[in-house]
Amino acid sequence: MNSIKFLDLGAQYRSVQSEVEPAVLKVLSSTAYVLGPEVAAFEREFAKAHEVEHAIAVNSGTSALHLALLAAGVGASDEVITASMTFVATAAAIAYVGATPVFVDIDKESLTIDPSLIEEKITPRTKAILPVHLHGQAADMEAINRIAEKHNLVVIEDAAQAHGARLGARSVGGLGQLAAFSFYPGKNLGAAGEGGMVTTNDGTLADKVRRLRDWGQSQKFHHDELGFNYRMDGIQGAILGIKLRYLDLWTEARRAHARHYRARLNSLGLTTSIEQPSRLHVYHVFSVFHKERDALRAALDAQGIQTGLHYPIPVHLQKCFAHLGYPKGSLPNTEEAANTQLSLPMYAELKDDEVEQICNVIAEWCSKIA
Ligand SMILES: *Cc1c(COP(=O)(O)O)cnc(C)c1O
Repeated sequence: MNSIKFLDLGAQYRSVQSEVEPAVLKVLSSTAYVLGPEVAAFEREFAKAHEVEHAIAVNSGTSALHLALLAAGVGASDEVITASMTFVATAAAIAYVGATPVFVDIDKESLTIDPSLIEEKITPRTKAILPVHLHGQAADMEAINRIAEKHNLVVIEDAAQAHGARLGARSVGGLGQLAAFSFYPGKNLGAAGEGGMVTTNDGTLADKVRRLRDWGQSQKFHHDELGFNYRMDGIQGAILGIKLRYLDLWTEARRAHARHYRARLNSLGLTTSIEQPSRLHVYHVFSVFHKERDALRAALDAQGIQTGLHYPIPVHLQKCFAHLGYPKGSLPNTEEAANTQLSLPMYAELKDDEVEQICNVIAEWCSKIA
């Protein structure tokens, strides 16, 4: 049996190599190394693809979150309601602006923040809600926006894992006041290095983010506010502009693999990623859940099949956030997912017979432990 990677960046690269290499060389000879026309063109196409007015390219998803929070006016002594079942960057960005992350448990099925638990966490200091479209599925934004409107809160989407995901007829990226995307290489749309994007339909917020990413300059030499060096590289803009044209195709391939996995694994009685009605899931991660998760992972590894964990230690139990005082057991659904979730290989270039091979190994393991 051949081994199967969790992620195959080489396969994706080979599929676009003939377009990417000349585009990179063009940027090198043009010397537009920072921002420049390729980044501007990518911003326009990304905005169009996500049905938003403005897209501002930055140097990472974390920077995108940081600037979105700053532009929204979140700062010291504010509280931001978010999920703990996420990558640490979500909560780190909240801490960067001096605010306090307030963790709310997730819904068991979608693994996204449970809106019915949000209102009890709102205090006079609450300024924003930062839902995470975890694993590529939109959070319950309609319910979240209703709460935000009632309490006059800003909504910022963490869409780092959810390029092209939809909620009903609407794309992520325009479901709150601001959204942050990541182009880390392993994301559904990945750079050859670091990259990120802020999207918004608000022109004033867009201008603010644009200034903040470039040293707070209103015009050259005029630093009106304390800004950052968070600009996107020209080479990344050129590469991402090419890859964006394939995003829908790649998403459809991921969704087909998800259907294949689900058909096989659910028939074994296993719980997998669940696609909520009217939420178009883009499967950054496809999950299978099992209380003997570590044993299943070892069985797959023994057959050369790599897997991942997203995420085994929730943010509220990380040492760097221990001072926030969330004990073990405080977010039961989050902790249950952390203990049982396993990420199976998922990328457009994965082959149907590889999905079949993975499911066969899981089926055999299930028959042994039954
Ligand atoms: C990847 C990721 C980030 C951070 O993006 P970077 O580009 O790595 O800085 C933030 N939030 C979530 C949910 C992510 O998956």
